[in-house]
Amino acid sequence: MNASECPHESVVRRAVDGDGWTESLRQHVSQCASCREVVQVTRFMKRVERAMERKPVPDALAMWSRIQLAERQRLAERARRPIRFAWTFAKCWFVGGAGLIFYREWHLIGTLFLTMPIYVYMAIAAGAAILVMGRRALKG
Ligand SMILES: [Zn+2]
Repeated sequence: MNASECPHESVVRRAVDGDGWTESLRQHVSQCASCREVVQVTRFMKRVERAMERKPVPDALAMWSRIQLAERQRLAERARRPIRFAWTFAKCWFVGGAGLIFYREWHLIGTLFLTMPIYVYMAIAAGAAILVMGRRALKG
């Protein structure tokens, strides 16, 4: 359908449905592309309805809403894809960098771990516990 709607469309639709044609309405439809399209679509829908032996046609508004929702979800998913890719890349980069540092500087890191006072271990454990509990609380 056209984006610009003609104010006569509902009158035209009723006329096609119930044979309420007037001469001025016929005149308007012959000049208005939007109303001609309404006539074609309405007649087509009536033919389809007859062909389906009066089986109820699915609600167009509900179908349209469902299609729009699916399209919005598809677009949102597509928009999130580069962010997810960048996040995965960043995690790989961090793990790779940390692994390289650990590998190359292990003698320093090992010495540091062995000589760290006990309160540093306790602070690390408390931080990890807070992180885990915070994530759990955020997830609900
Ligand atoms: Zn019109």
